[in-house]
Amino acid sequence: MSMLVKGGRVLDPASGLDEIADVLIQGDRIAAIAPDLDAAGHTIIDATDRLVVPGLVDLHTHCYWGGTLLGVNPDKVGATTGVTTWVDTGSSGAATFEGFLYHVIKRSKTRILPLIHLSYIGLTPGGNLSIDVGELDDWRFADLGELRRIRDQFEGEVAGVKLRASNNACGGNGPVVLPLAREAADLFGVPLMIHIGTAPPTIEEVMPWLRQGDILTHVYHPHLGGCVLDAAGRLKPAVREAMARGVRMDVGHGVASLSFAVARAAISQGLLPDSISTDLHAHCIDGPAFSLPHVMSKFLALGLSLEDVIRLSTATPADVIRRPDLGRLTVGGEADIAILQLQECPTVFRDIAGETLEGRHILSAELTLRAGEVLEPFDDGRSEGRSSSWQTRFLSQTEDTET
Ligand SMILES: [Zn+2]
Repeated sequence: MSMLVKGGRVLDPASGLDEIADVLIQGDRIAAIAPDLDAAGHTIIDATDRLVVPGLVDLHTHCYWGGTLLGVNPDKVGATTGVTTWVDTGSSGAATFEGFLYHVIKRSKTRILPLIHLSYIGLTPGGNLSIDVGELDDWRFADLGELRRIRDQFEGEVAGVKLRASNNACGGNGPVVLPLAREAADLFGVPLMIHIGTAPPTIEEVMPWLRQGDILTHVYHPHLGGCVLDAAGRLKPAVREAMARGVRMDVGHGVASLSFAVARAAISQGLLPDSISTDLHAHCIDGPAFSLPHVMSKFLALGLSLEDVIRLSTATPADVIRRPDLGRLTVGGEADIAILQLQECPTVFRDIAGETLEGRHILSAELTLRAGEVLEPFDDGRSEGRSSSWQTRFLSQTEDTET
């Protein structure tokens, strides 16, 4: 079985590729990348006037569908968005990891790299506003013994450790759970991803726990006490210090975590993201995040180049999650490919504060190939989004509610 993706603009900034070329796929691998390859005997995919880029790598998602309220189906969504690698950020904890691994991760065509939550129950209560309980409101859920069991039982399956360090997730327990999250990541030998939001804890309390190669997510959120900017709009010293020691900065758009004003000010002071990610979940898939190509379009509108936007959604997030084999178009590498359309289309984007941002381009995905297989869109009768009631409530409040 061979396929030829023909005549597209092959764009992989990390590999130095930007040319009109064909991509030959044999089995699950990329067999050749060159202009005008012989089409005889291959199934042709016409990519004329399209971008042919590495399968997108979304560093912040929630795809434990059926196991958490927030989860979306990565195969279903991946088919229409170009995302072939889904980094799930803490949907499961030690109590639910095995279910996630066997019921979702191993059964999905898309690649899922799970970060395990410090909390034993993971994000099981996440997004349920009628109970409104944070997963670490009771710090006893931070059970290192259970995480040790997961490490020993499922060696190599955990890509990182996640902690949500904000009022809605751990209340006043920051001083207890931050050092435990550090210990958990060291136990697995994987990156620690910490989410920031409304304090407590403050960003100054959070930052010392992140080392080189760890990840801060929601870097452009506007909420009190956890914002990267001070009241005068300057990058806080704790953030500058973290950047200098190599802490990676992730967007994590979500429902409440991309303020255009914060992003503009932070980017102008040198806080560029290492990864453009969606924080895609059931409460933001119908807006405001929608999809990774949509969030990428917002960063085009914020002034990043197309090359940077592609790189920050492919190779750099792959590097951040310590998978430099992913997010690149490499002869001999797995054929994870996204065929994108870049439309000239004046668009007004809105953020959660009601601020608008005018863009001239919209990126969308036309075809997703995972390991040489076209991911076909399907309808399983299940709605991925659950946003309406939640957003109504969120928009009527000012408190931090991002996930
Ligand atoms: Zn999240």
